[in-house]
Amino acid sequence: MMLRKAINPAFLKNVAKPFSTTSSVKNVSFELTDTQREMQETARKFTRDEIIPVAAEYDRTGNYPWDIVKKAWNLGLLNHHIPASVGGLEFNIFDGCIVSEEIAYGCTGIKTALEASGLGQTPVIMAGNHEQHKKYLGRLLEEPLVAAYCVTEPGAGSDVNGVKTKAVKKGKEWILNGTKMWITNGGVANWYFVLARTNPDPKAPAGKAFTAFIVEREWEGVHPGRKEINMGQRASDTRMVTFEDVRVPEENVLLGEGAGFKVAMGTFDKTRPAVACGAVGLAQRALDEATKYSLERKAFNKPIAEHQAVAFMLADMAISVETARLAWMKSAWALDNKKPNGSMLASVAKCYAADIANKCATDAVQIFGGAGFNTDYPVEKLMRDAKIYQIYEGTAQIQRLIISRQLFANALKGGN
Ligand SMILES: Cc1cc2nc3c(=O)[nH]c(=O)nc-3n(C[C@H](O)[C@H](O)[C@H](O)COP(=O)(O)OP(=O)(O)OC[C@H]3O[C@@H](n4cnc5c(N)ncnc54)[C@H](O)[C@@H]3O)c2cc1C
Repeated sequence: MMLRKAINPAFLKNVAKPFSTTSSVKNVSFELTDTQREMQETARKFTRDEIIPVAAEYDRTGNYPWDIVKKAWNLGLLNHHIPASVGGLEFNIFDGCIVSEEIAYGCTGIKTALEASGLGQTPVIMAGNHEQHKKYLGRLLEEPLVAAYCVTEPGAGSDVNGVKTKAVKKGKEWILNGTKMWITNGGVANWYFVLARTNPDPKAPAGKAFTAFIVEREWEGVHPGRKEINMGQRASDTRMVTFEDVRVPEENVLLGEGAGFKVAMGTFDKTRPAVACGAVGLAQRALDEATKYSLERKAFNKPIAEHQAVAFMLADMAISVETARLAWMKSAWALDNKKPNGSMLASVAKCYAADIANKCATDAVQIFGGAGFNTDYPVEKLMRDAKIYQIYEGTAQIQRLIISRQLFANALKGGN
Protein backbone atom coordinates (compact mmCIF):
# COMPACT_ATOMS: atom_id res chain seq x y z
CA MET A 1 0.00 0.00 0.00
CA MET A 2 2.84 2.34 0.97
CA LEU A 3 4.63 1.53 -2.25
CA ARG A 4 1.57 2.32 -4.32
CA LYS A 5 1.36 5.72 -2.61
CA ALA A 6 5.00 6.47 -3.39
CA ILE A 7 4.52 5.95 -7.15
CA ASN A 8 3.35 8.75 -9.41
CA PRO A 9 -0.40 8.06 -10.05
CA ALA A 10 0.00 9.02 -13.73
CA PHE A 11 2.40 6.12 -14.15
CA LEU A 12 -0.02 3.65 -12.57
CA LYS A 13 -2.79 4.91 -14.82
CA ASN A 14 -0.71 4.05 -17.87
CA VAL A 15 0.21 0.62 -16.54
CA ALA A 16 -3.43 -0.18 -15.89
CA LYS A 17 -4.29 0.30 -19.59
CA PRO A 18 -4.93 -3.00 -21.36
CA PHE A 19 -1.95 -3.54 -23.67
CA SER A 20 -3.98 -5.29 -26.37
CA THR A 21 -5.66 -2.05 -27.44
CA THR A 22 -2.48 -0.82 -29.14
CA SER A 23 -2.09 -1.90 -32.76
CA SER A 24 1.67 -2.53 -32.52
CA VAL A 25 1.09 -5.15 -29.82
CA LYS A 26 -1.66 -6.77 -31.87
CA ASN A 27 0.89 -7.28 -34.66
CA VAL A 28 3.32 -9.22 -32.48
CA SER A 29 2.63 -12.90 -32.02
CA PHE A 30 4.70 -15.81 -30.80
CA GLU A 31 1.94 -18.24 -31.73
CA LEU A 32 2.95 -20.61 -34.54
CA THR A 33 0.41 -21.15 -37.30
CA ASP A 34 -1.18 -24.59 -37.69
CA THR A 35 1.12 -25.33 -40.63
CA GLN A 36 4.22 -24.27 -38.69
CA ARG A 37 3.16 -26.43 -35.74
CA GLU A 38 2.65 -29.37 -38.07
CA MET A 39 6.12 -28.91 -39.55
CA GLN A 40 7.60 -28.64 -36.09
CA GLU A 41 5.80 -31.81 -34.99
CA THR A 42 7.01 -33.73 -38.07
CA ALA A 43 10.60 -32.63 -37.47
CA ARG A 44 10.32 -33.40 -33.74
CA LYS A 45 9.02 -36.90 -34.40
CA PHE A 46 11.69 -37.50 -37.04
CA THR A 47 14.36 -36.38 -34.58
CA ARG A 48 13.01 -38.58 -31.79
CA ASP A 49 12.56 -41.67 -33.98
CA GLU A 50 15.40 -41.44 -36.48
CA ILE A 51 18.17 -39.20 -35.14
CA ILE A 52 18.45 -39.52 -31.35
CA PRO A 53 18.78 -43.34 -31.38
CA VAL A 54 21.73 -43.28 -33.82
CA ALA A 55 23.45 -39.97 -32.99
CA ALA A 56 26.10 -41.43 -30.65
CA GLU A 57 26.99 -44.14 -33.16
CA TYR A 58 27.47 -41.62 -36.00
CA ASP A 59 29.58 -39.53 -33.66
CA ARG A 60 31.73 -42.58 -32.84
CA THR A 61 32.21 -43.80 -36.42
CA GLY A 62 32.20 -40.44 -38.18
CA ASN A 63 30.26 -42.04 -41.04
CA TYR A 64 28.19 -39.73 -43.19
CA PRO A 65 24.48 -40.19 -42.27
CA TRP A 66 23.24 -41.09 -45.75
CA ASP A 67 20.30 -43.12 -44.45
CA ILE A 68 19.07 -40.10 -42.45
CA VAL A 69 19.60 -37.78 -45.42
CA LYS A 70 17.46 -40.12 -47.54
CA LYS A 71 14.69 -40.35 -44.93
CA ALA A 72 14.71 -36.57 -44.39
CA TRP A 73 14.58 -36.06 -48.16
CA ASN A 74 11.55 -38.38 -48.41
CA LEU A 75 9.73 -36.41 -45.70
CA GLY A 76 10.52 -33.01 -47.26
CA LEU A 77 12.82 -32.02 -44.39
CA LEU A 78 15.66 -31.33 -46.84
CA ASN A 79 15.79 -28.64 -49.54
CA HIS A 80 12.90 -26.68 -48.05
CA HIS A 81 14.02 -23.29 -49.43
CA ILE A 82 14.08 -24.34 -53.11
CA PRO A 83 11.73 -22.08 -55.16
CA ALA A 84 8.28 -23.30 -56.13
CA SER A 85 9.06 -22.42 -59.78
CA VAL A 86 11.22 -25.56 -59.95
CA GLY A 87 9.02 -27.68 -57.68
CA GLY A 88 10.39 -26.76 -54.24
CA LEU A 89 8.57 -25.83 -51.03
CA GLU A 90 10.01 -22.28 -50.99
CA PHE A 91 9.99 -21.98 -47.19
CA ASN A 92 10.90 -18.62 -45.74
CA ILE A 93 13.82 -18.38 -43.29
CA PHE A 94 11.60 -18.52 -40.19
CA ASP A 95 9.85 -21.75 -41.21
CA GLY A 96 13.13 -23.40 -42.17
CA CYS A 97 14.52 -22.55 -38.73
CA ILE A 98 11.57 -24.15 -36.96
CA VAL A 99 12.47 -27.46 -38.61
CA SER A 100 16.23 -27.01 -38.11
CA GLU A 101 16.03 -26.33 -34.38
CA GLU A 102 14.20 -29.62 -33.91
CA ILE A 103 16.79 -31.59 -35.88
CA ALA A 104 19.65 -29.91 -34.00
CA TYR A 105 18.10 -31.09 -30.73
CA GLY A 106 18.81 -34.66 -31.88
CA CYS A 107 22.34 -34.16 -33.21
CA THR A 108 23.99 -31.02 -34.50
CA GLY A 109 26.50 -33.10 -36.50
CA ILE A 110 23.63 -34.58 -38.49
CA LYS A 111 21.93 -31.17 -38.60
CA THR A 112 25.10 -29.62 -40.08
CA ALA A 113 25.33 -32.41 -42.65
CA LEU A 114 21.76 -31.56 -43.76
CA GLU A 115 22.05 -27.78 -43.39
CA ALA A 116 25.33 -27.48 -45.34
CA SER A 117 23.46 -28.53 -48.45
CA GLY A 118 21.18 -25.53 -47.82
CA LEU A 119 24.29 -23.35 -47.48
CA GLY A 120 25.46 -24.52 -50.92
CA GLN A 121 22.00 -23.99 -52.39
CA THR A 122 21.35 -20.51 -50.97
CA PRO A 123 23.62 -18.54 -53.36
CA VAL A 124 22.10 -20.44 -56.27
CA ILE A 125 18.57 -19.67 -55.03
CA MET A 126 19.50 -15.99 -54.53
CA ALA A 127 21.57 -15.34 -57.63
CA GLY A 128 20.88 -18.19 -60.07
CA ASN A 129 18.81 -17.85 -63.25
CA HIS A 130 15.89 -20.15 -64.07
CA GLU A 131 18.07 -22.58 -66.04
CA GLN A 132 20.53 -22.90 -63.15
CA HIS A 133 17.64 -23.38 -60.71
CA LYS A 134 16.10 -26.07 -62.89
CA LYS A 135 19.33 -27.94 -63.44
CA TYR A 136 21.01 -27.79 -60.03
CA LEU A 137 18.18 -27.25 -57.53
CA GLY A 138 15.85 -29.50 -59.53
CA ARG A 139 18.46 -32.26 -59.34
CA LEU A 140 18.34 -32.14 -55.54
CA LEU A 141 14.57 -32.53 -55.62
CA GLU A 142 14.74 -35.51 -57.96
CA GLU A 143 17.20 -37.52 -55.87
CA PRO A 144 18.55 -37.41 -52.29
CA LEU A 145 21.76 -35.58 -53.22
CA VAL A 146 23.51 -32.75 -51.37
CA ALA A 147 25.42 -29.58 -52.26
CA ALA A 148 28.32 -27.74 -50.59
CA TYR A 149 29.60 -24.17 -50.20
CA CYS A 150 33.31 -23.62 -50.96
CA VAL A 151 34.72 -20.29 -49.88
CA THR A 152 37.27 -20.87 -47.07
CA GLU A 153 40.85 -21.75 -48.04
CA PRO A 154 43.91 -22.89 -46.06
CA GLY A 155 45.12 -19.28 -46.05
CA ALA A 156 41.83 -17.36 -45.90
CA GLY A 157 38.82 -17.85 -43.62
CA SER A 158 37.56 -14.74 -41.88
CA ASP A 159 39.33 -12.60 -44.47
CA VAL A 160 37.41 -13.69 -47.57
CA ASN A 161 39.23 -11.05 -49.60
CA GLY A 162 42.32 -13.24 -49.25
CA VAL A 163 40.83 -16.05 -51.38
CA LYS A 164 43.49 -17.26 -53.86
CA THR A 165 41.55 -19.83 -55.90
CA LYS A 166 41.41 -18.33 -59.36
CA ALA A 167 39.50 -18.75 -62.57
CA VAL A 168 40.70 -17.59 -65.99
CA LYS A 169 38.38 -17.17 -68.99
CA LYS A 170 39.26 -19.27 -72.05
CA GLY A 171 36.72 -19.02 -74.86
CA LYS A 172 33.35 -20.06 -73.46
CA GLU A 173 34.85 -21.69 -70.35
CA TRP A 174 36.57 -20.72 -67.14
CA ILE A 175 39.63 -22.66 -65.99
CA LEU A 176 39.49 -23.04 -62.21
CA ASN A 177 42.52 -23.71 -59.98
CA GLY A 178 42.89 -23.61 -56.20
CA THR A 179 42.27 -25.29 -52.86
CA LYS A 180 39.32 -24.88 -50.51
CA MET A 181 39.48 -25.95 -46.86
CA TRP A 182 37.02 -27.08 -44.14
CA ILE A 183 34.27 -27.70 -46.67
CA THR A 184 31.20 -29.32 -45.11
CA ASN A 185 29.82 -32.06 -47.40
CA GLY A 186 33.15 -31.73 -49.28
CA GLY A 187 33.34 -35.46 -50.00
CA VAL A 188 29.67 -36.20 -50.55
CA ALA A 189 28.30 -33.22 -52.51
CA ASN A 190 26.98 -33.61 -56.03
CA TRP A 191 27.89 -30.00 -56.82
CA TYR A 192 29.68 -27.09 -55.18
CA PHE A 193 29.22 -23.35 -54.94
CA VAL A 194 32.78 -22.02 -55.48
CA LEU A 195 34.17 -18.51 -55.01
CA ALA A 196 37.24 -17.67 -57.12
CA ARG A 197 39.29 -14.58 -57.93
CA THR A 198 38.78 -13.62 -61.57
CA ASN A 199 40.25 -10.15 -61.65
CA PRO A 200 44.03 -10.37 -62.17
CA ASP A 201 44.56 -6.93 -60.59
CA PRO A 202 45.57 -7.63 -56.94
CA LYS A 203 44.27 -4.17 -56.00
CA ALA A 204 40.77 -4.77 -57.42
CA PRO A 205 38.08 -4.15 -54.75
CA ALA A 206 36.43 -7.28 -53.31
CA GLY A 207 33.13 -6.21 -54.90
CA LYS A 208 34.69 -6.69 -58.36
CA ALA A 209 37.51 -9.18 -57.83
CA PHE A 210 35.61 -12.45 -57.42
CA THR A 211 33.19 -14.57 -59.41
CA ALA A 212 30.88 -17.32 -58.14
CA PHE A 213 30.58 -20.65 -59.96
CA ILE A 214 28.59 -23.86 -59.77
CA VAL A 215 31.04 -26.76 -60.12
CA GLU A 216 30.05 -30.39 -60.46
CA ARG A 217 31.78 -33.06 -58.35
CA GLU A 218 32.20 -35.39 -61.32
CA TRP A 219 34.08 -32.92 -63.51
CA GLU A 220 37.71 -33.68 -64.25
CA GLY A 221 40.12 -32.02 -61.85
CA VAL A 222 37.82 -31.91 -58.79
CA HIS A 223 39.57 -33.68 -55.90
CA PRO A 224 38.05 -33.92 -52.41
CA GLY A 225 40.69 -34.70 -49.75
CA ARG A 226 40.47 -37.00 -46.71
CA LYS A 227 37.71 -36.58 -44.17
CA GLU A 228 38.97 -34.31 -41.37
CA ILE A 229 38.77 -35.64 -37.80
CA ASN A 230 37.10 -32.82 -35.89
CA MET A 231 36.48 -32.22 -32.18
CA GLY A 232 32.71 -32.53 -32.58
CA GLN A 233 29.85 -32.75 -35.08
CA ARG A 234 31.62 -35.83 -36.39
CA ALA A 235 28.75 -37.08 -38.54
CA SER A 236 29.35 -34.04 -40.71
CA ASP A 237 31.82 -34.50 -43.59
CA THR A 238 34.54 -31.79 -43.59
CA ARG A 239 37.23 -31.86 -46.27
CA MET A 240 39.75 -29.97 -48.31
CA VAL A 241 38.65 -29.76 -51.96
CA THR A 242 41.20 -29.09 -54.71
CA PHE A 243 40.34 -27.79 -58.17
CA GLU A 244 42.96 -28.54 -60.79
CA ASP A 245 42.41 -27.05 -64.25
CA VAL A 246 38.66 -27.64 -63.92
CA ARG A 247 36.78 -26.50 -67.03
CA VAL A 248 33.64 -24.63 -65.94
CA PRO A 249 31.19 -23.64 -68.71
CA GLU A 250 30.31 -19.94 -68.73
CA GLU A 251 26.64 -20.73 -68.07
CA ASN A 252 27.71 -21.87 -64.59
CA VAL A 253 28.65 -18.34 -63.50
CA LEU A 254 26.23 -16.98 -60.89
CA LEU A 255 24.91 -13.48 -61.49
CA GLY A 256 27.87 -12.36 -63.61
CA GLU A 257 31.62 -11.86 -63.64
CA GLY A 258 32.80 -9.90 -60.60
CA ALA A 259 29.61 -10.41 -58.53
CA GLY A 260 30.95 -13.34 -56.47
CA PHE A 261 31.78 -11.55 -53.22
CA LYS A 262 28.29 -10.08 -52.99
CA VAL A 263 26.73 -13.49 -53.64
CA ALA A 264 28.97 -15.32 -51.15
CA MET A 265 28.49 -12.78 -48.36
CA GLY A 266 24.77 -12.21 -49.01
CA THR A 267 24.29 -15.93 -48.44
CA PHE A 268 25.14 -15.60 -44.74
CA ASP A 269 22.26 -13.20 -44.12
CA LYS A 270 19.94 -16.02 -45.07
CA THR A 271 21.82 -18.84 -43.36
CA ARG A 272 22.97 -17.34 -40.05
CA PRO A 273 19.53 -17.58 -38.38
CA ALA A 274 19.61 -21.29 -39.28
CA VAL A 275 22.99 -21.64 -37.57
CA ALA A 276 21.64 -19.77 -34.55
CA CYS A 277 18.60 -22.03 -34.25
CA GLY A 278 20.91 -25.06 -34.41
CA ALA A 279 22.84 -23.72 -31.43
CA VAL A 280 19.52 -23.17 -29.62
CA GLY A 281 18.47 -26.77 -30.32
CA LEU A 282 21.73 -27.95 -28.77
CA ALA A 283 21.32 -25.68 -25.74
CA GLN A 284 17.74 -26.89 -25.21
CA ARG A 285 18.99 -30.49 -25.27
CA ALA A 286 21.69 -29.65 -22.71
CA LEU A 287 19.04 -28.06 -20.48
CA ASP A 288 16.64 -31.01 -20.80
CA GLU A 289 19.31 -33.63 -20.13
CA ALA A 290 20.68 -31.71 -17.16
CA THR A 291 17.21 -31.08 -15.67
CA LYS A 292 16.30 -34.75 -15.92
CA TYR A 293 19.60 -35.83 -14.36
CA SER A 294 19.35 -33.30 -11.54
CA LEU A 295 16.00 -34.75 -10.47
CA GLU A 296 17.35 -38.33 -10.48
CA ARG A 297 20.84 -37.92 -9.05
CA LYS A 298 21.11 -37.68 -5.28
CA ALA A 299 23.86 -36.08 -3.20
CA PHE A 300 23.74 -35.34 0.52
CA ASN A 301 20.45 -37.28 0.79
CA LYS A 302 18.48 -35.23 -1.73
CA PRO A 303 18.19 -34.80 -5.49
CA ILE A 304 20.91 -32.40 -6.68
CA ALA A 305 18.07 -30.26 -8.13
CA GLU A 306 17.33 -29.28 -4.54
CA HIS A 307 20.78 -27.75 -4.13
CA GLN A 308 20.26 -24.13 -5.05
CA ALA A 309 23.59 -23.85 -6.87
CA VAL A 310 22.42 -26.54 -9.30
CA ALA A 311 18.86 -25.18 -9.59
CA PHE A 312 20.18 -21.71 -10.44
CA MET A 313 22.54 -23.10 -13.07
CA LEU A 314 19.48 -24.71 -14.69
CA ALA A 315 17.49 -21.48 -14.39
CA ASP A 316 20.31 -19.58 -16.13
CA MET A 317 20.33 -22.19 -18.89
CA ALA A 318 16.57 -21.76 -19.34
CA ILE A 319 16.98 -17.97 -19.53
CA SER A 320 19.61 -18.29 -22.24
CA VAL A 321 17.66 -20.83 -24.29
CA GLU A 322 14.54 -18.64 -24.25
CA THR A 323 16.39 -15.44 -25.14
CA ALA A 324 18.53 -17.04 -27.87
CA ARG A 325 15.39 -18.54 -29.41
CA LEU A 326 13.82 -15.09 -29.48
CA ALA A 327 16.98 -13.77 -31.14
CA TRP A 328 16.87 -16.27 -34.04
CA MET A 329 13.12 -15.72 -34.39
CA LYS A 330 13.49 -11.96 -34.60
CA SER A 331 16.37 -12.16 -37.08
CA ALA A 332 14.48 -14.61 -39.30
CA TRP A 333 11.38 -12.44 -39.14
CA ALA A 334 13.41 -9.31 -39.98
CA LEU A 335 15.09 -10.99 -42.96
CA ASP A 336 11.86 -12.53 -44.25
CA ASN A 337 10.24 -9.08 -44.05
CA LYS A 338 13.28 -7.35 -45.59
CA LYS A 339 13.87 -5.09 -42.59
CA PRO A 340 17.03 -3.00 -42.96
CA ASN A 341 18.61 -4.34 -39.74
CA GLY A 342 18.09 -8.02 -40.65
CA SER A 343 21.75 -8.65 -41.34
CA MET A 344 22.86 -7.25 -37.99
CA LEU A 345 20.13 -9.19 -36.16
CA ALA A 346 21.31 -12.39 -37.87
CA SER A 347 24.80 -11.74 -36.47
CA VAL A 348 23.35 -10.99 -33.02
CA ALA A 349 21.41 -14.26 -33.07
CA LYS A 350 24.31 -16.34 -34.41
CA CYS A 351 26.81 -14.88 -31.99
CA TYR A 352 24.61 -15.06 -28.92
CA ALA A 353 23.20 -18.52 -29.62
CA ALA A 354 26.72 -19.88 -30.23
CA ASP A 355 27.95 -18.47 -26.92
CA ILE A 356 25.00 -19.73 -24.88
CA ALA A 357 25.17 -23.19 -26.52
CA ASN A 358 28.75 -23.46 -25.26
CA LYS A 359 27.81 -22.21 -21.79
CA CYS A 360 24.78 -24.53 -21.52
CA ALA A 361 26.71 -27.58 -22.73
CA THR A 362 29.57 -26.87 -20.30
CA ASP A 363 27.12 -26.38 -17.42
CA ALA A 364 25.29 -29.58 -18.35
CA VAL A 365 28.58 -31.46 -18.09
CA GLN A 366 29.11 -29.83 -14.68
CA ILE A 367 25.67 -30.91 -13.46
CA PHE A 368 26.38 -34.48 -14.57
CA GLY A 369 29.62 -34.44 -12.54
CA GLY A 370 31.97 -37.32 -13.44
CA ALA A 371 29.30 -38.86 -15.66
CA GLY A 372 29.33 -35.66 -17.72
CA PHE A 373 32.90 -36.37 -18.76
CA ASN A 374 32.05 -39.84 -20.03
CA THR A 375 30.88 -40.96 -23.48
CA ASP A 376 28.14 -43.22 -22.02
CA TYR A 377 26.19 -40.06 -21.17
CA PRO A 378 24.89 -37.58 -23.75
CA VAL A 379 26.35 -34.29 -22.55
CA GLU A 380 30.08 -34.59 -23.37
CA LYS A 381 29.09 -34.84 -27.06
CA LEU A 382 27.02 -31.66 -26.69
CA MET A 383 30.07 -29.83 -25.32
CA ARG A 384 32.28 -31.01 -28.21
CA ASP A 385 29.56 -30.28 -30.77
CA ALA A 386 28.88 -26.77 -29.42
CA LYS A 387 32.33 -25.30 -30.06
CA ILE A 388 32.02 -25.07 -33.83
CA TYR A 389 29.08 -22.67 -33.50
CA GLN A 390 31.58 -19.99 -32.42
CA ILE A 391 33.73 -20.67 -35.50
CA TYR A 392 31.89 -21.53 -38.71
CA GLU A 393 29.77 -19.10 -40.77
CA GLY A 394 31.77 -16.24 -39.25
CA THR A 395 33.59 -16.56 -35.93
CA ALA A 396 32.35 -14.99 -32.68
CA GLN A 397 34.80 -12.13 -33.29
CA ILE A 398 33.64 -11.54 -36.87
CA GLN A 399 29.99 -11.39 -35.72
CA ARG A 400 30.96 -8.74 -33.16
CA LEU A 401 32.80 -6.86 -35.89
CA ILE A 402 29.66 -6.86 -38.08
CA ILE A 403 27.45 -5.79 -35.16
CA SER A 404 29.75 -2.99 -34.00
CA ARG A 405 30.23 -1.66 -37.55
CA GLN A 406 26.47 -1.50 -38.00
CA LEU A 407 26.09 0.23 -34.62
CA PHE A 408 28.58 2.90 -35.64
CA ALA A 409 27.01 3.32 -39.08
CA ASN A 410 23.58 3.78 -37.46
CA ALA A 411 24.97 6.24 -34.91
CA LEU A 412 26.66 8.29 -37.63
CA LYS A 413 23.38 8.38 -39.56
CA GLY A 414 21.68 9.55 -36.37
CA GLY A 415 19.48 6.44 -36.11
CA ASN A 416 19.57 3.47 -33.78
C1 LIG B 1 33.79 -28.01 -39.12
C2 LIG B 1 33.93 -26.83 -40.05
C3 LIG B 1 33.06 -26.70 -41.12
C4 LIG B 1 33.18 -25.64 -42.00
N1 LIG B 1 32.39 -25.58 -43.12
C5 LIG B 1 32.66 -24.67 -44.09
C6 LIG B 1 31.98 -24.71 -45.36
O1 LIG B 1 31.10 -25.55 -45.59
N2 LIG B 1 32.34 -23.81 -46.30
C7 LIG B 1 33.30 -22.86 -46.10
O2 LIG B 1 33.57 -22.09 -47.01
N3 LIG B 1 33.95 -22.79 -44.90
C8 LIG B 1 33.67 -23.67 -43.91
N4 LIG B 1 34.34 -23.62 -42.70
C9 LIG B 1 35.34 -22.59 -42.48
C10 LIG B 1 34.95 -21.58 -41.42
O3 LIG B 1 33.95 -20.73 -41.92
C11 LIG B 1 36.24 -20.83 -41.02
O4 LIG B 1 37.02 -21.75 -40.29
C12 LIG B 1 35.97 -19.58 -40.24
O5 LIG B 1 35.37 -18.61 -41.04
C13 LIG B 1 37.26 -19.00 -39.63
O6 LIG B 1 38.27 -18.91 -40.56
P1 LIG B 1 39.73 -19.49 -40.23
O7 LIG B 1 39.58 -20.90 -39.76
O8 LIG B 1 40.61 -19.27 -41.40
O9 LIG B 1 40.24 -18.65 -39.01
P2 LIG B 1 40.98 -17.22 -39.12
O10 LIG B 1 40.25 -16.34 -40.03
O11 LIG B 1 42.41 -17.48 -39.38
O12 LIG B 1 40.79 -16.70 -37.64
C14 LIG B 1 41.60 -17.15 -36.55
C15 LIG B 1 41.17 -16.37 -35.30
O13 LIG B 1 41.40 -14.96 -35.51
C16 LIG B 1 40.19 -14.25 -35.30
N5 LIG B 1 40.12 -13.12 -36.24
C17 LIG B 1 40.34 -13.12 -37.57
N6 LIG B 1 40.15 -11.90 -38.08
C18 LIG B 1 39.77 -11.11 -37.07
C19 LIG B 1 39.40 -9.72 -36.95
N7 LIG B 1 39.37 -8.92 -38.01
N8 LIG B 1 39.08 -9.25 -35.73
C20 LIG B 1 39.08 -10.05 -34.64
N9 LIG B 1 39.42 -11.37 -34.68
C21 LIG B 1 39.74 -11.88 -35.88
C22 LIG B 1 39.08 -15.24 -35.56
O14 LIG B 1 37.88 -14.87 -34.93
C23 LIG B 1 39.68 -16.51 -34.98
O15 LIG B 1 39.50 -16.54 -33.59
C24 LIG B 1 34.18 -24.65 -41.77
C25 LIG B 1 35.04 -24.78 -40.68
C26 LIG B 1 34.94 -25.86 -39.84
C27 LIG B 1 35.94 -26.00 -38.70
